[in-house]
Amino acid sequence: MQNNPNTTLVTPTAPIANNTHGGRAKCLQRLVRLDLPVPRTVALSFEAVQNIARGQLPDIAAIVSQFPEDALLCVRPSSEDPDWGGPGAVLNIGMNDTRFQALVAELGAEAASSVYTRFVQSFAVDVARLDPDMFDDVAQDGQQALQDSLRAYEIEMEEPFPKDPGEQLAAVLKSMARAWDGTSARLLRQAKGAPADAGLGLVVQQMALGVGLGECGSGVLQLVDSDTGLPQITGRYLSQSQGRDAVEGDSSALYLGRDPRGPSLEDLVPDAFAELQEHAALMRIKLRAEMQLEFAVDNGKVHILDGVRVPRSSRAAVRIAVRLAQDGVISRAEALMRVEPRTLTELLHRQVRTNAVRDVIGSGIAASPGAATGAIVFTATEAQASAARGDPCILVRRETAPEDIRGMHAAQGVLTERGGITSHAAVIGRGIGLPCVVGATDMRFHRRRKELVASDGRVFSAGDIITVDGTNGQVLAGAPEMREAALDESFQTLMEWADELRDIEIRANADTPADAQTARNFQAEGIGLCRTEHMFFEPGRLTVMREMIFAESSQDRRAVLERLLPMQRADFTQLFRIMEGKPVCIRLFDPPLHEFLPTDRAGQRELADALDLPLSDVTRRIDAMMEYNPMLGLRGVRLGITVPEIYEMQARAIFEATLDASADGDPVVPEIMIPLVSAKREVELVKASIDTVASAVRLEKGQDFNYRLGVMVETPRAAIRAADIAPHCAFLSFGTNDLTQMTYGLSRDDAGRFMSDYVRQGVFPEDPFHTLDIDGVGELLQIGAQRGRAAQPDITLSICGEHGGNPESIEFCRNAGFNYVSCSPFRVPVARLAAAQLAI
Ligand code: PEP
Ligand code: MG
Repeated sequence: MQNNPNTTLVTPTAPIANNTHGGRAKCLQRLVRLDLPVPRTVALSFEAVQNIARGQLPDIAAIVSQFPEDALLCVRPSSEDPDWGGPGAVLNIGMNDTRFQALVAELGAEAASSVYTRFVQSFAVDVARLDPDMFDDVAQDGQQALQDSLRAYEIEMEEPFPKDPGEQLAAVLKSMARAWDGTSARLLRQAKGAPADAGLGLVVQQMALGVGLGECGSGVLQLVDSDTGLPQITGRYLSQSQGRDAVEGDSSALYLGRDPRGPSLEDLVPDAFAELQEHAALMRIKLRAEMQLEFAVDNGKVHILDGVRVPRSSRAAVRIAVRLAQDGVISRAEALMRVEPRTLTELLHRQVRTNAVRDVIGSGIAASPGAATGAIVFTATEAQASAARGDPCILVRRETAPEDIRGMHAAQGVLTERGGITSHAAVIGRGIGLPCVVGATDMRFHRRRKELVASDGRVFSAGDIITVDGTNGQVLAGAPEMREAALDESFQTLMEWADELRDIEIRANADTPADAQTARNFQAEGIGLCRTEHMFFEPGRLTVMREMIFAESSQDRRAVLERLLPMQRADFTQLFRIMEGKPVCIRLFDPPLHEFLPTDRAGQRELADALDLPLSDVTRRIDAMMEYNPMLGLRGVRLGITVPEIYEMQARAIFEATLDASADGDPVVPEIMIPLVSAKREVELVKASIDTVASAVRLEKGQDFNYRLGVMVETPRAAIRAADIAPHCAFLSFGTNDLTQMTYGLSRDDAGRFMSDYVRQGVFPEDPFHTLDIDGVGELLQIGAQRGRAAQPDITLSICGEHGGNPESIEFCRNAGFNYVSCSPFRVPVARLAAAQLAI
């Protein structure tokens, strides 16, 4: 058999590889090379298993002849990646009446019966595909259970239980090979990332029984805690058990490390326990990973049946990787590669514990990660009142609008019925690290009745406690157990290593001083997008803003803007100070003005009061400002050109803040960005106006300063005409939210309604607002970058849409020669790690 690579005895030199025999076979070979007490094993290759599925069995007698004559065998799956799963193991193959008699003599009737019964039942269910219920009425233990099971098998199958070990093995191999080809198994593994043609290997191993005389049993052991990643001997052990009995079902297995419920492995067989620790330590070094050992003890003697990577939380993954590198077991680069960037998000926020009970009452788009529990409130005002009382709350809205921002700050989490990944709630949520689920269309929201109807019809009222899990998009009843955020030393260390290697800058999108502070805490190298309009929703400012909108003449408007100027200046000064000389890119006002106006009667009446105008005037003006398609209407630079006073005020505020912050800190060179540009002339006009303001400020203050003016590429035309635009600016920043919206002709705010259908039917591979559409929007990015750079070789290129923090977008931007990506502050660590992995 040694010469047949398809059925290979696992020896140190046998030709076994992950991609021919699977991960389990390869790992077992490594353990054999380490001279660990691994029972004799034969590995069947992917090809052999494929042949079996097609009806061509390997030479069964030759396999059986590799093992001692009276040995029992087990068969386990060995897929290329252990995460892809495979059919369940079948143990105790070879049991028949003759061996039963021999085992009775050797181990006693009880142990022998339990081994035989287990085999009969698992053969019936896993191999003969009989209904497990057929064993419901058999006796629990002992010889009676065995007799009952054999009889039940015979009745169902109308034939005796197979007695020939070769025949048994052949049947097991056939059923496992076919199970791998089943539709549900295929879908399941493809969902875990397995390719359509993923192969299955099988390992046939001599049983270490785990039942019998003396101390016998089975269990698992690892040297670290799976949840924290801290060094701690962890595991379970169950006397008189087999396979994964110790960790599956309602096991009474004792925890390793002195279980108060009774004597565990270390008390029963201290030598075996010590030996297992030694083996685990050796595996850690030689296999260069924290491994979980699956073992059996037979009359005190240890057998290592298998080794798998320790199951781990995201936090543990970071700690394990860092410790392995610090101990010199792996390199720093390898440690960086071992942590999946996206999983870092789980460390940055509170999360529902993995094993917590989830009472799911609805689901939507996971718009901002982390989980939060609180009482339902239906308005931003109630959220603020709740926060003032110190009561955590979840703000539940049909969708959020800019006026909800205070309520969002006050709430622990947000849930909306409408909206997609770039809706207002989602963008703000990510920006401030607020867990958020949007587009929960399977729930019904009754604002007036103050009720939320769950997908299963249960009704929740204001004040009821719910949890939003923005990591997976679920809404849960009650308060499940949570795990706190974990920005520990290992995380910081990993991030430092990432920074040493990466070659693209990472900035953050930050609108407020609090966001900027978060960005700094996560070591962002600057602010890539400050959406200034968010500053106008502060209490006190909104009314001034509305006054400005209602101003009749340019002169009146300027007068009101004079009052906003010191507030904006203070905002910018604070941002500059927090960023300590790092670049801050400020986007001039972008949204349509009517977003700042009240939509309901009560609000309009209040506004009429505040402005001392008749209500009819107010409603008429509001109606006049309404647009059919506001996202494509009077916003961005179009406002800058038609209502130039706003940009002038903002430019002045930026320049005065520049001087203020530079006077007592690091020199500031502000970056000013013009949104929604589609034509060169727009840039020329705004540039001329800003240059004029700069000259005026220089003259008034008698001080000089520099600034950089840039353009946001958010319309397809701006990308295509980048060669016209680039000569007028120092940088181009691609706003892929609007660019995606306009490239697809797909509303950011409405796409959530049908996006899941579209993705399910394969129209779009993913939500393009979430994952950058490399083929379409990506091509516009390429065109814009190439034409812009050709026209202006020194130009700085970046991306600041929500895609900026996604590892795939970072790869794309890095390949396209971008200087930096900018993303929500809480995604900065993800981006730092992803960028480092690209450079390795
Ligand atoms: C964009 O459009 O990509 C962008 C960053 O701007 P906003 O999301 O504010 O429209
Ligand atoms: Mg935009």
